[in-house]
Order: sequence, then structure tokens, then C-alpha cells
Amino acid sequence: MNVEVFKFGGASVNSADGIRKVAQILDLFPGKSMMLILSALGKTTNAMERMLHHYMEKDAVSMVEEYNQVKAYHLDIVHELFGDKTHPVFTEIESHFEALHRILRQDRVTGYDETYDRVVSFGEIFSTTILYHYLVLEGLEIRLFDATSILHTDNSFRDARIDWKKTQLAIQKQLFTFFQEKRGSIGLTQGFIGRSPEGKPTTLGREGSDFTAAVIGYCMRVKKVTVWKDVPGVLNADPIWFDDPEKLDTLSFLEAIELAYYGAKIFHPKTIKPLENANITLDVRSFHHPEEEGTLVKNMQEWKISTPIFIRKENQVLISISPRDFSFIVEENLSHIFTILASLHVKANVTQNSAISFSICVDNDPVKIKPLIRELQKTFEVRYNDGLELYTIRHYTDEAVQRITSGRNILLEQKSRNTIHFVLQHPPQ
Ligand code: ASP
Ligand code: MG
Repeated sequence: MNVEVFKFGGASVNSADGIRKVAQILDLFPGKSMMLILSALGKTTNAMERMLHHYMEKDAVSMVEEYNQVKAYHLDIVHELFGDKTHPVFTEIESHFEALHRILRQDRVTGYDETYDRVVSFGEIFSTTILYHYLVLEGLEIRLFDATSILHTDNSFRDARIDWKKTQLAIQKQLFTFFQEKRGSIGLTQGFIGRSPEGKPTTLGREGSDFTAAVIGYCMRVKKVTVWKDVPGVLNADPIWFDDPEKLDTLSFLEAIELAYYGAKIFHPKTIKPLENANITLDVRSFHHPEEEGTLVKNMQEWKISTPIFIRKENQVLISISPRDFSFIVEENLSHIFTILASLHVKANVTQNSAISFSICVDNDPVKIKPLIRELQKTFEVRYNDGLELYTIRHYTDEAVQRITSGRNILLEQKSRNTIHFVLQHPPQ
């Protein structure tokens, strides 16, 4: 279908100006049909997670404080964009906040993950309500689609899997029809959220809006999906901790998958597969400089790179597991370890084994790590170190390795032809 699929993220759309900027970007594509995917504004999802945490801990005071802050943040933006209180956006936003408030007033009746999805998904509801009304105000022909009626998933809350058949059908029914009837108009929906078979809200994992855009692009058979980012494109390192990153003009899907897998935050790891499968180019572009070219991620037989790519993951735990009886790490042990990891949905970022021990480096998610260690301790001797960093360098050079490891305490090193990993202690402050 000849539709532009555009995804906007919270890092760029974080203020009234951010909302206005979206409208300016759309102006650059006059007459085009466009499907927009928006995530929560600014750091709202983090705030929603804190709110949820207080709710779970029954800390009503902190919970209400967080709630009020999130509400004030959104209302400030609404005031700045719509001025007086007569605009319908005010009642609509109020009613969404009221719906959230009702949930928070009740005792929790569902498990952690399910409650998470119910609460945290409101971030995207707030943001799309505001953008929708703003674009209407700007005179655009636009329709807001409820992502929970399009993105059908299973009920693995917090990490829901797409039900491709149902999703394809819903997109056919709703989006195809819309764009066929209204050429040159705009559809908008929430990233990150979906609906379980029982009709409950689900989420696709943090930063999942990119993936939503990929799923929609795939089902709509478009040629390109564009994600507008607060960086000029895909860089060879995160500018937050690297002061001279280089922008890559192109990236092969294969490389993109490797980068996402090792934790490059530029896109959600699941984003690439549907795009690669349907041969859809991913265009990563600058939200702040929309006239500039970004990075094209696409199918490329031969892709060459002359610069190393650095990926850093913070807050890592290195767990070292050995059999109690000093026996060698045998297949049964390994399979037992991986069964435990899988059952707790823990992803091993790097693994390494020696004769009598097996090491895994994992993200320090306290909800998962404590039960993981407890479970492993039932069978094995377990030691662990937390507060670590995992560095991955693709296409490494001696100089690149030096840059990362010089003067640092290395706890684990692992090297293959194109990739090197280091688990390091944080540098002394
Ligand atoms: N708002 C969600 C998050 O911050 C999804 C996204 O941004 O893609 O994780
Ligand atoms: Mg976000």
C-alpha cells in the first residue's frame, strides 16, 4: 500500500513543542496517506512504572504523588496547545485519568505483569489523545485508531506476542478500508500496546512502539517504515556516553539484528524481523532535522563498515553457576540452567562456560533476578556480582578495545570474528 508509516517516540515528543513539531513534519509530506504510531510522551512510561510500583507496595501517598505529576505534565501540554478549557480534549484527557484513577483505587486483583499492562498502557492513551486533537485543530483529516482493536496478541503480559492472523485481519478491515476511502488522510494509533484474546490490554515490552510500527508496516505491505528519533540516524555509539559518534548511512538487516540483540537501544529487538521478511526499508531519521537524511536499514547482500560499533548495557549482573559436587558442567546441567532461564523469561546477554562453571550476564531486573538466583541455588553453587556494565564491540579494532577497557577491571571477555564482549566493573567515580 502506498502509505507512509511514521513512528514518533517519547524522547522527541516530550512537550507542546514536540507535538507541534510532529505537525511540521507531516507538512513535509503533502497529500500523502500516513499512518502514525506514537508512544507515551517524554518519560511517562518510567513514571507509570513508578506509579505501579507504589501501587503494588500499597504506598498510596507516593502513588498519588506520581499520578498527580503525570497528570500535571500532560495538562500543562494540553493547556499550552489548546489554551482555554472549552476544547473537548480537556474532558477526554480527564476521563482517561479518571479511568486510571479507578484502577489505582481498587485492590489489585491480577498478577504483576497483567496489572502492569493495565496501568502502564495509559501513557500511550494520553499521548495519542493529545496529538489527535492537535492535528484536528491543525485542519488535518485524521482518525484515531485504538491499538487494542488492531494489535492482537497472546496473554504474555509485559512481553506479548503478536497474533499475526488476527492482527492482519483487523488491519485489513480498519486501516485498508480507511486509506482506500480517504486517500491522503492520516491514521494515528498507540505504539507499544495491544489486546489479549480475553480483551485485556497487553504491552509489547519496553520501547515496543518501533515494533508496533513494524507490525503495521508489515500487515499493510508498505515499502518503508520511518522512525523519527532524537538522533540523526543509527550512530556507531550512544551519544549519551560517547562524545564523537558517527552516523551510519546504511545498515544491513543482519547487522541491525545483531546490534538490537546485543542491546543497542536504537530499536526494539523484535522490530527488524517483520521488516526483513517483507523487504520493507526502515528509515531512521532525525526528528529535529527532518530535512536531513538518516540511516536506511535494508536488505543488502554486501554491507561494509569501516568503523567499530559500540553497545553498552548498564546495570548487569554476572552470575556464575557451578555444580555443588565439583563435577564438570555437563549437558544436563546446562539444559537445567536454560530451562530455569526460560521459565523466568530471563535473557542471557552473554554466556560462557568453563569446565566447572557456567557464567551468564543478565539485566538486573529485580523482579526476575531474585527468583532466578533462588531457583538456581536449589541445585547449584551460585555466585554473583551486580552493578556491572556489558560492552559489545562489533567490528572491533585494537584501538576500540583499548578505548573501552583501558584501566578497567574486566570480569569476562569473549571474542568471535566480528564481535567482542566485555563485562566490566563500573569505573571508579
Ligand atoms: N512508551 C513505551 C516505553 O517507553 C514504548 C515506547 O516508547 O516505544 O517503553
Ligand atoms: Mg517511550
